[in-house]
Amino acid sequence: MGKMIYLDYAASTPCDPRIIESIIPYFSDIYANPSNIKTPMGSLAYTATEIARSQVSNMLNCHPQQIIFTSGATESNNIAILGAIKHQRNISSLEKLHIISSSIEHNSVIEIFKKLNPDNIEVTLIKPSINGMTSLDEIESKIKHNTFLVSFMMANNELGVLNNIMGIVELCKKHNILVHSDATQSFGKYPLDVRTLNVDFLSFSGHKIYAPKGIGALYCNNLSSISPIFFGGSHEFGIRPGTLNVPGIVGIGKACEICFDVQNNEYKTTKYLRDKFECMLLEFDDRITINSADSPRLPNISNISFPIRKGHSIMNSISAIACSSGSACDTADNKFSHVLSEIGISKHKASNTLRFSFGRFSNEEDVIFSVNHIINILQKLALKRY
Ligand code: PMP
Repeated sequence: MGKMIYLDYAASTPCDPRIIESIIPYFSDIYANPSNIKTPMGSLAYTATEIARSQVSNMLNCHPQQIIFTSGATESNNIAILGAIKHQRNISSLEKLHIISSSIEHNSVIEIFKKLNPDNIEVTLIKPSINGMTSLDEIESKIKHNTFLVSFMMANNELGVLNNIMGIVELCKKHNILVHSDATQSFGKYPLDVRTLNVDFLSFSGHKIYAPKGIGALYCNNLSSISPIFFGGSHEFGIRPGTLNVPGIVGIGKACEICFDVQNNEYKTTKYLRDKFECMLLEFDDRITINSADSPRLPNISNISFPIRKGHSIMNSISAIACSSGSACDTADNKFSHVLSEIGISKHKASNTLRFSFGRFSNEEDVIFSVNHIINILQKLALKRY
């Protein structure tokens, strides 16, 4: 393999060496089941999971008992949304329930809604405007007497656009509505304080913050606002039964400890690199579009449409940069991104739209190399100027 620059941190991050070092003992030496708390090794494993729970809760300014470890954000989203529906169903078994969300949520949210029985639960998916944003007025106009849950992601995984979660929560609390937010992309990018946000559920994942894949968590303000959707044990407060993934949990705990220290600096460095990358490309060809550039955005994501001639594909020509077309999740299905289509981007434009995302190990050299690589491709494939 030739030189490859990794600009796909929004899809997954490499494990931070400090995190790898912290989890190795939980494979090799302390491998007992943390439920066997009465044995010395089990007790060490249990203690490690509780230290990690505190590290995660410290990052969010919540109580450790409000953190439920899961296998990742997909599972956290399912537990929060399906668990809240189940709980609400137990309270009011006859009434039809109503949920409001956005049409550009991650598939791990959208697909849940598609599977619900429309006779029992109505879901309103709000289409954002062309800039990827949804106004509070629009959300308020959709609230009905039976709306019990609103779910909006904190930052979109393809565009990086930020939702006004604080405003959404303020609005929903006036109507006694629960709020879930998928914070997978924003968690670890800037400080998040759930007490200030006042959100009910927050989902996030380890592999976006330099911990291993297969570990995530759900913040739940009040455990009694969800009913379990999995059964088989009392682990994780009976909400997520199953033997705990001790190395993963230690890893996400360490990842939070590191992010807590570095997130403000990392915000500045990734934003500097992302902005330089965008400026250099625009300087070369002003027909390039940076999607949602004028919206409040994460510092590390750049979603770019290139002016490519019909019959050619920039993705097929990018050989030296790891990046995503649409989102990594959509790429596996080889489908056009629902996010780009919802904000009105044509199929042709979407097929030449790439997401670049920067992170902890990105540097200026990567930016310059990547821009030159893209310029080389554009010189061969771009629309001719008239
Ligand atoms: N939500 C968002 C916004 C994401 O970006 C992702 C990962 N692409 C997920 C959920 C799913 O996370 P996980 O891979 O941990 O299940």
